[in-house]
Amino acid sequence: MSTSLPLVFDAPKRATPPRHLADLDPAERKAAVTELGLPGFRADQLARHYFGRLTADLGEMSDLPAAARAQLGALLPPLVRTVKEQVCDDGQTRKTLWKGHDGTLAESVLMGYPDRATVCISSQAGCGMACPFCATGQGGLQRNLSTAEIVDQVRQAARKAQEGALGEPRRLSNIVFMGMGEPLANYKRVVAALRRITEPAPSGLGISPRGVTVSTVGLVPAIDKLAQEGLPVTLAISLHTPDDELRDTLVPVNNRWKVAEVLDAGRRYAQTTGRRISIEYALIRDVNDQPWRADLLGKLLRQRIGTKRVHVNLIPLNPTPGSEWDASPKPVEREFVRRVQAAGVSCTVRDTRGQEIDAACGQLAATART
Ligand code: SAH
Repeated sequence: MSTSLPLVFDAPKRATPPRHLADLDPAERKAAVTELGLPGFRADQLARHYFGRLTADLGEMSDLPAAARAQLGALLPPLVRTVKEQVCDDGQTRKTLWKGHDGTLAESVLMGYPDRATVCISSQAGCGMACPFCATGQGGLQRNLSTAEIVDQVRQAARKAQEGALGEPRRLSNIVFMGMGEPLANYKRVVAALRRITEPAPSGLGISPRGVTVSTVGLVPAIDKLAQEGLPVTLAISLHTPDDELRDTLVPVNNRWKVAEVLDAGRRYAQTTGRRISIEYALIRDVNDQPWRADLLGKLLRQRIGTKRVHVNLIPLNPTPGSEWDASPKPVEREFVRRVQAAGVSCTVRDTRGQEIDAACGQLAATART
């Protein structure tokens, strides 16, 4: 029945975004430029502008002849268009709501710290993992973001930081895949984006893999695969509780891969890449903040990963609309930290940025209304 409805009433959402320079590796870029009837070296020139000078504005590419510029525009379709920017924390937290070519909404957050500038990016519009404490998880998955949509969030943030959005001109040093979506459920595009982000300019954005963190609910086969990519990025595992009974509800994918399996994959990742694993733990009052859980967490991490290979990041829960859950009281939080540390495991509390503008962990819901 619905097939007879004219398409104009129902714009084709969820369509694959058009091909963009940042989707392509250097060989593919050359081929794409040749297809346009231009000499192959124009691909490098274009990449130098996009990845090196962080611009997608053809008007800024004065070394390219006007005719070539017009044609190369086909490789720079505007994919990530800012709809709204919200600022808090003295201008050091800046949330961008952006719209894809098909109207899909997603968010990124740029954060300035004394020693670094970090962007938190989305890998999917929405998320299919359905964690009950996370705002993004409540709306389900709209679609995967393309490689270029992921890379362009970084390119735009790097440009903003360079232009002084955080005060003085800053170099973007850290990327965290902690915005909307489950990065390892969009594996191929995320790995291509990681290559683009970490390859030196003009091939990529030249950000050190040490500054890049991929955060996952714990998709075990994908963790093992990522370890083999030769990309020594930091892996963060959203554990949130050390026992299967509670984790089955807090992180529903636990019904597929249990705590022990996820931690073992974490150990293999640390062994293969030489990088320390981060364990993310959103502390929720009277839900997962009991002393016995802190003790069990410390013990499991010591046994299964090893104290030198793991760090625990406690995130005070950011309450989301309609949820009765809240952050733990500070004394409970301090006791939790103390107990994890007593097991010999390093543990710190993450500073929560962007709460007032719904830009903190788990608050990204991408509504155009607010
Ligand atoms: N899907 C990935 C990355 C996105 S979320 C993952 O789950 O790891 C990044 C982190 O924010 C995750 O650790 C997630 O569990 C946490 N988070 C989600 N909702 C939160 C909330 N309301 N308060 C605090 N942390 C939250």
